[in-house]
Amino acid sequence: MTLALVTEVVAASRPRLSVDLDAVARNTRLLAGRASGELMAVVKADGFGHGALDVARTALAHGATRLGVTSLDEAWPLREAGLGVPLLSWLNPADADWGRAAAHDVDVAVPSLTHLAAVAAAPGRARVHLHVDAGMARDGADPASWTLLCRSARRAEQRGQLTVVGVMGHLGCADDPTDDCNALARTRFAWALEVARAAGLRPRDRHLAATAATLTDPRTHHTLSRVGAGLVGIDPSRTTALHPAMTLTAPVVQVRRVRAGTPVGYGHSHRTHEATHLGLLPVGYADGLPRAASGRAEVLVRGVRRPVVGRISMDQVVVDLGERGVDLGESATVFGPGTHGEPTVAEWAAWADTIEHEVVTGIGARVERSLA
Ligand SMILES: *Cc1c(COP(=O)(O)O)cnc(C)c1O
Repeated sequence: MTLALVTEVVAASRPRLSVDLDAVARNTRLLAGRASGELMAVVKADGFGHGALDVARTALAHGATRLGVTSLDEAWPLREAGLGVPLLSWLNPADADWGRAAAHDVDVAVPSLTHLAAVAAAPGRARVHLHVDAGMARDGADPASWTLLCRSARRAEQRGQLTVVGVMGHLGCADDPTDDCNALARTRFAWALEVARAAGLRPRDRHLAATAATLTDPRTHHTLSRVGAGLVGIDPSRTTALHPAMTLTAPVVQVRRVRAGTPVGYGHSHRTHEATHLGLLPVGYADGLPRAASGRAEVLVRGVRRPVVGRISMDQVVVDLGERGVDLGESATVFGPGTHGEPTVAEWAAWADTIEHEVVTGIGARVERSLA
């Protein structure tokens, strides 16, 4: 009896992240409807923190036909879970386990001659997407090396060492569709396709667009769109109403009444303006609440927005609950889709001067996860 009670209190004292797969389903259908070609569900970083397998299965059931991840280590669990659709991994060291990739039928991106040589030498016949840098000097091959990369890949193909099934690029400024950088990237990608063709390659998959360009610029769609953020309700272009899929709640574990002028938290960065109740939530920056949001953030308690006061600590935050306070164990909504007045991930990102992606991928391991 006593034990059961204690267990209940402990369970209620934990922050909880709930993921709404119905939101993922709706977002996928919208994106699949917008894409001119196929839709690849990008489930890197554990499905942007939403659970890679859950997001993958949901997206595949609602219009996505393929999966994409960053590293091969993110690819294996998807295959082990029995997902047999085309699967691409695009960022690996040159000495990655290319043989295992071929054995598991995982497509790999090749951004350099060094990678190409290693992939060609590995056992099995790899399915390769040559990756060109479309103008952000990040991943992908330097355009200066592209012609040689294409010709070398063609020779490896003729030797039966690999098959070039795709050419990919990535846009650096797609979140702002009016930026001239997009036209330059489209032009460079078209040039890269021509060079590949002239080298004798016949890549069936030609892909440049991620979420923002899928929503705003059909000229980037080619045969395939790679979308990640959009699946979980983040639209970097801010043009389309998608459905955020995460809700983070935390219980109020302590309430105290304080006088006006009471300093709160590390550094006393806040003092209460008047007599009020302070509530404690056991969730902090180790759980993914950006410390930079200190002094601006709000949470929803009993249907009312309440300010987070003082600095966000590693494990806890203090909320000004006002005149009447609340009961212990009541749930505060840190963020959610915004449909009940709670803050959104977009608001948290703005408070912390960052992007939504960083907030959703930053939720800590000790937060209990569940499906909505
Ligand atoms: C993360 C990533 C994507 C997905 O981008 P979103 O904007 O999240 O849709 C697509 N392509 C590459 C190469 C990526 O790294």
